[in-house]
Amino acid sequence: MNNSEEIVKISWSYYIAKHNDKTIFIDTGFRDETVANQWGITFTGVETELRNIIDNLNFVDTVIITHSHFDHIDNLDLFDTPEIIISKLDYDIALEKCSQSIKEKLLQCNVVTVENEYIYDNLFRFKVIGGHSNGSSVVYFKLDNNDYVITGDECYWCDNMISNRPIGIYTSTENNERFINEAHQNGLIPLPFHDLKIFDQNSVISKNIVRIL
Ligand SMILES: [Zn+2]
Repeated sequence: MNNSEEIVKISWSYYIAKHNDKTIFIDTGFRDETVANQWGITFTGVETELRNIIDNLNFVDTVIITHSHFDHIDNLDLFDTPEIIISKLDYDIALEKCSQSIKEKLLQCNVVTVENEYIYDNLFRFKVIGGHSNGSSVVYFKLDNNDYVITGDECYWCDNMISNRPIGIYTSTENNERFINEAHQNGLIPLPFHDLKIFDQNSVISKNIVRIL
């Protein structure tokens, strides 16, 4: 980008996977409209739309949290008692900094706290990167001979990875660069959380939901 003042439109999203009869959320989104206003976000609640693909949030089996920033974890209290997968570092941060309802949910659920790597259901490889936040993580998976990575905020837009350019906000440049570089070299398909392209390039299920696979 030539002009750093340029306004870039981004999305604030999360992923849902159905695998082996399980419903899995990868991050949760958020719903506080005051916070949305502070960040200049046009907030769109998708709870009604979600009913097209999920009967009831209480039936969600697992919630994988890439990191504890509000836009990734704040809706955690909408779920009943899912299994939660999160890095040990961001779990500790969440218990310290998140709202009371998120803390309570974390304490009430079965939580897998990951120090380095965790394989979930023989498909998803949760890996702590620690570039964007201390314990920020990504999720690798392979399907039909394609390698994907759900990037958390280690990569904001697909272009970060495609052009091998690190993100702008991080706690460890080195960890972020190592992740981006390796993913780029291996030709992984990035699934980031803030890229409107994801919505433009995939098939529409309803107004704010697209199907990727
Ligand atoms: Zn973040």
